[in-house]
Amino acid sequence: MNAAERFVKITGEVGAYTERLTGVSVVDAYFGPEEFNPRTSEKEKPVSDIVHDIHLALDALRDEIDDTLRLEFMMGELHSLNVILDWLDGKEISYSELVEGLFHISMEKFSEHEIDKNIETLSDVMENFPGKDLQEKIDNFGKEGEVTGDSLQKLLETELQQRGIEIGQEFRDKIYAVIGASVPDMGVQYEAVRNQPWGGYNWYLGGFKSLNQFNIDRKFNRDTLQATIYHEYEHHVSNLWREKAYLKTGNLELSIVPLHTGRCVISEGTADTAKEFLGVSEDDPRILVLNALNPLRRMTQINAAILLNDERKSVEEAIDYLQNRGYRSRESAEASIDFISPTNKEGKINFFAPYIFTYFIGRTNFVYPTFLKASQKDLLPDFFKTVYMNPYSGSSVTWNKAFEWM
Ligand SMILES: [Zn+2]
Repeated sequence: MNAAERFVKITGEVGAYTERLTGVSVVDAYFGPEEFNPRTSEKEKPVSDIVHDIHLALDALRDEIDDTLRLEFMMGELHSLNVILDWLDGKEISYSELVEGLFHISMEKFSEHEIDKNIETLSDVMENFPGKDLQEKIDNFGKEGEVTGDSLQKLLETELQQRGIEIGQEFRDKIYAVIGASVPDMGVQYEAVRNQPWGGYNWYLGGFKSLNQFNIDRKFNRDTLQATIYHEYEHHVSNLWREKAYLKTGNLELSIVPLHTGRCVISEGTADTAKEFLGVSEDDPRILVLNALNPLRRMTQINAAILLNDERKSVEEAIDYLQNRGYRSRESAEASIDFISPTNKEGKINFFAPYIFTYFIGRTNFVYPTFLKASQKDLLPDFFKTVYMNPYSGSSVTWNKAFEWM
């Protein structure tokens, strides 16, 4: 077996293991040959054997792969998979070691002073919005056009299906046209689901199509729906280019998309920056509010995750924190706990517990500053080429190296 084949096989086996322990497979998507399909991988392989194979694969990579970006990308991903095994196998590992080991970023708590500064900014942009104080203004803001449950399902099947098609066109007009290259796009199917720890999820199905699921237990409004659609559509786009690169190069590792690696940091970062990529209008006062509210929500959710997982505080304390500092309703705070809590409702390890860092850090420390710099230097075509046409740029391990030319 060559190094790329080892890589895919290992990812599939780690997927079977994480699924057995947490109910969630680390394999987020697969569009490679049937021979390596993770569905057919060994289900009960001992962890020590998989770890041994990871070490053999790391050696094989060093021998076989000359492209340094590709090599570092794959080694970073394998290291993350190794950390997943250590974590779920019960090795002594702190939350900060976990976050750093998986995502190659540091676990930083935001100071209350920083949170205060964000709250001030939010107060300023909401000055003329209705409500007696900031909490009431945010509550009113959230309730405008609020939709959930059956009516959200109806919306998904009609208007939002159409909105997805329009966003696909925006990507063609504003990004692919600039790059001077195209990618097949068989579109995104929208579907309503319930009982999930997340609000929305892009399942890339291969064959250049995706299924976007929305959790209709959650409450959305016009703005959060729009933000979620852009975010999930960008995941679809990023996978389209990855599949195209896989078909063109035959590099097998591109055909498997793992969760909980350095890849996720960039993937969530680009998804959270899709609106800027597409130049979606910023004059709308509601968008200005979202631009202040979203970072506050992401930062307080990170702090709440640290309270729960690192400082071992109670769920009640984390809910209080999200309400008081993130200006969430009780209901929204409780829903966001599902994603960051150390265990899920069935008492199993919550696979997503370390994941919350990827969004904010991916956007703030990686994608957005590089995008701004490219924009200032008039280098956006090359920026988008690097992001979408070089899949090995898409990891927290390789991002800065991939943009050294800039
Ligand atoms: Zn995402």
